[in-house]
Amino acid sequence: MYICVVCGYDQLDYPQYEDGFAMQTICPCCGFQSGFDDASLEPFTIEEYRVKWIKLGSPLFSSSVSKPKGLN
Ligand SMILES: [Zn+2]
Repeated sequence: MYICVVCGYDQLDYPQYEDGFAMQTICPCCGFQSGFDDASLEPFTIEEYRVKWIKLGSPLFSSSVSKPKGLN
């Protein structure tokens, strides 16, 4: 299992980054996709994406996951 760099969700099946390459992994908790959200024309940094997500009320990207502990 791997930990999301944005929200701390610790049940990722695949790493978001490997050997410096973004793996296009989508976090089911915050919806961050490595290689996409951080590589678009106006890319988010990890910090910016986290702030944006929290401002939205930390919506869960997938209803099949529960929020990481300590994140409210
Ligand atoms: Zn996440």
